[in-house]
Amino acid sequence: MESITFGVLTISDTCYHEPAKDRSGRRLMALIGESFDNSQVIAAVLPDERDLIQRELRKWIDRDDVRVIITTGGTGFAPRDVTPEATKPLLDKDCNQLTLAIALTSLKKTKFAALSRGVCGIAGNTLVLNFPGSEKAVVECFEAVRELLPHALHLIGNNVELVARTHAEVQGTAQSEAAVPSLVKRDHVCPHKTGAGDDVDRNSPFPMVPVHQALDTILTVVQRNNESNQEMDQLRSPVNIPPFRASIKDGYAMKSTGFSGTKRVVDCIAAGDKVNEHPLQEDECFKINTGAPVPTHADCVVQVEDTRLLQRDKYGEESLVDILVEPKAGLDIRPIGHDMRKGDKVFPAADYSPVVYKSLLASVGIKQRQRKPKVGIISTGSELLAPHQPAVAGKIYDSNTTMLEELLLYFGFDCRQKLVLGDDLAGIKMSLSALIDTVDFVICTGGVSMGDKDYIKPVLEELNFKLHFGRVNMKPGKPMTFASRGNKYFFGLPGNPVSAFVTFHLFALPAIRWADGWERAKCPLPIINISLLNDAIDLDSRPEYMRASVTSINGKLHASVNGDQISSRLQSIVGADVLIHLPGRTAEKPQAHAGEIYSASVLRYDFISRYE
Ligand code: AMP
Ligand code: MG
Repeated sequence: MESITFGVLTISDTCYHEPAKDRSGRRLMALIGESFDNSQVIAAVLPDERDLIQRELRKWIDRDDVRVIITTGGTGFAPRDVTPEATKPLLDKDCNQLTLAIALTSLKKTKFAALSRGVCGIAGNTLVLNFPGSEKAVVECFEAVRELLPHALHLIGNNVELVARTHAEVQGTAQSEAAVPSLVKRDHVCPHKTGAGDDVDRNSPFPMVPVHQALDTILTVVQRNNESNQEMDQLRSPVNIPPFRASIKDGYAMKSTGFSGTKRVVDCIAAGDKVNEHPLQEDECFKINTGAPVPTHADCVVQVEDTRLLQRDKYGEESLVDILVEPKAGLDIRPIGHDMRKGDKVFPAADYSPVVYKSLLASVGIKQRQRKPKVGIISTGSELLAPHQPAVAGKIYDSNTTMLEELLLYFGFDCRQKLVLGDDLAGIKMSLSALIDTVDFVICTGGVSMGDKDYIKPVLEELNFKLHFGRVNMKPGKPMTFASRGNKYFFGLPGNPVSAFVTFHLFALPAIRWADGWERAKCPLPIINISLLNDAIDLDSRPEYMRASVTSINGKLHASVNGDQISSRLQSIVGADVLIHLPGRTAEKPQAHAGEIYSASVLRYDFISRYE
């Protein structure tokens, strides 16, 4: 099935400066992906500048593959709204009725639609549509044209056979299936069939969604658990820390009302001793250790460095010291509850780190399990051997189960159950059905691509999961699948170990963190900029996530790619500090070069391998 490229051009001064705010462009991309099976989308964000808009539109119109351009934004009455003015000179034909159809649909929703000046027309063999800038308007306008687009494109492309077929359909006299490429409407995805469900079309039926959209979808679907947040907020300390006035120094406890000078040492107090309540004179002191309880009648500690030993008794114990500084009330004493008072919040803010959580609870004497999302792991493949088994012809060792379990542990989560299953539909269905009852997340590898033994998607359908996406525009990891049933979530990672590694970090980990209550911005891996050390890397048509190691040179971070990046070669994760984000290849930019700056997701806490 030939793919048809849509151009989505967001025109907004704000979004140009902060692309993350571009909700309408993203929404359009999602709508296109959801509506048309064989669609590809290219996208850009521009400010409200007529020349820039016109230049980008011209570039896209000149591309053979771009058949539809939808702009969003810049159609209003404000002085900087110039999208229609930038569009009109490029059009060979006006499509006033299409403009009217959009206007009528929008006016049914709001009379403010009358304030949009968007135009529609044909430039070369490309249909250009101006939509307003709001996300709501974009959804309404897209709905107005969605049904019309396939036929409009047949007409523009002079695709006689398909035009005749559509006319016949409209008149109820359609006869045969067309075998020529066209824009394929996506009504229901049948996961075990290829694109059009026949032997001619060998493509996946799933639209290829961009990585950011896949993550947005996941974090919209997965429910964030506020319980642990509330629990942390409500936890009160049952004890004071310290529970007694504690000495901060090794030294001598005394009354601050006595002066410096010679004092008699009456006793020694060690950490762990009970509070000494004996009366104390101004010319007396206790020898005391750090962390020991300050005697009742002392109100300050003078550190050992500010004293001089004058005399020992016959047993060798200190008996007379010279205090060299003036004692001051409260000196070097931690009052009761100084660090935390009984009844205080244990956690001043939510923090999901098991180190923080467990150690703070330990410090107040509470033993309580940290509530964490429950995760189960499944590896599928009839070729898989457990690492302890002897080698067998035709089989390979299963590394994914071990890798995913260790990754969960590394990031502070644990694995409740691990299963290794053969490629057997009934077996997978039964095991998944049982596992999903006991966990919140299933992270599964293998069985999601195009093989006739790839049963995961059909099983998900049979178990009434909703498949949110089944392909992502990325390398490695294209068949990455995400499904949900109520508040149970399923990640179908590709079986190749590196694909599983990359998709775990980019999708499964953020989802589990989100469910754990983490802030949205902290769910994905941290992103840094690195300067590329390799030269002339051929870019793939899909955005690529390369495993690379980081070198710090004079405080600047550089990264070099870890050898062959084929998705089966697990060795590429050895010494991998980051995943470099390389963009998809374009005619203007076919290669990445040394010295160029790219974003990179940080894989490990100790992410600098070398310092030079
Ligand atoms: P699949 O995604 O099931 O089509 O598998 C793609 C490739 O990954 C095949 O070469 C599999 O043998 C390999 N593979 C699948 N699962 C695992 C695993 N658990 N450990 C190592 N390799 C695997
Ligand atoms: Mg397999």
